[in-house]
Amino acid sequence: MATALVNGIVFTSEHWLTNQAVVIDEDKITAVCPANDLPSQVANTIDLKQQRLVPGFIDTQVNGGGGALFNDAPTLETLRIISEAHRAFGTTGFYPTLISDNLEVMQAGITAVKQAIKKKVPGVLGIHLEGPFLNPERKGVHDASKFKIIDESAFQILTSLDIGKTLITLAPELTTPEMIKRLINAGVIVSAGHSAATYEQTKIALASGLTSFTHLFNAMTPFTSREPGMVGAALEDKNSWCGIIADGFHVHPASLKIAYQAKTRGKIILVTDAMPSVGAINKNFMLNGELIRYDNGKLTTATGTLAGSDLTMISTVTNAISFLDITLDEAIRMASTYPAAMMGEKYLGEIKAGYTASMILIDDQNRVTRSWVNGRELTEN
Ligand SMILES: [Zn+2]
Repeated sequence: MATALVNGIVFTSEHWLTNQAVVIDEDKITAVCPANDLPSQVANTIDLKQQRLVPGFIDTQVNGGGGALFNDAPTLETLRIISEAHRAFGTTGFYPTLISDNLEVMQAGITAVKQAIKKKVPGVLGIHLEGPFLNPERKGVHDASKFKIIDESAFQILTSLDIGKTLITLAPELTTPEMIKRLINAGVIVSAGHSAATYEQTKIALASGLTSFTHLFNAMTPFTSREPGMVGAALEDKNSWCGIIADGFHVHPASLKIAYQAKTRGKIILVTDAMPSVGAINKNFMLNGELIRYDNGKLTTATGTLAGSDLTMISTVTNAISFLDITLDEAIRMASTYPAAMMGEKYLGEIKAGYTASMILIDDQNRVTRSWVNGRELTEN
């Protein structure tokens, strides 16, 4: 029994289509076809009222939402809360992100993600382990007492998620090119971040298979004239992806624009780095025993260190349009199509026959009004 979404303006990831229906059957898009020529299997239609149907957003870095922090309670219930909180803002796929913690917390997080994928908690696609294999010199808000070197037992944990994808943020200068290769051969996506690596060290990591940079500019060696640093290596490289936090606090909009103009098209992705404050009434929360305060969109420790963001995916999209001077089309691709490519999610990030039916509807004010995850409508608004 198929359902046709009709009377919408459909963004496939390349083109805007009118008078076209998107046909969903089970969890798949089975056709994008003329609305006046629907396949015979269509049993009901949904009127999209001339709003825009676009690929659902994919967030590769999300620590919390709805008042919950994944590190605090690495459980199935926390993943349900984060899923729901962010879905209201367009996220239909995400990699719950654990920041540096004990190996037991990592193991619990991996178990929770495994359960969530098996129980089909909407949008859970894998895990992002941001640390603890990081450099204390660029620790940001991470607790450096949790930092470690990747040894055999850590390697076993890092490669233990046998369903969905695993993304790891590590400081490449603190491990070996062989270890990076082993992780990649085991199916892990390796990203560099919280790192004091030089340009040369970063190039070696790229040659070992590193494919991503976590929150470009933040907590990494900067770009300067004689030492291009990790930022320089990231922008020079044509094949890797860079995540950016487009909240106007983590990186100056001009720096983001320069990075966007320098980097190969399709290789800059929008992430939230969201904390429990997203979708929560009480926007202050505890992190590593420290109170994090919300003030005018910004989350900081008592000493002023940024502690993640209060961003939503739809707000990163609208910020990217103004900061980078790009179209809505390109901002949507940066929030959906490109992160799907980075994570090797073959059937996400586009509205096309054969793809997973994870899509959102946005109105003319760029507000998310409806959402579908794996073919099921799960509108939160
Ligand atoms: Zn970070």
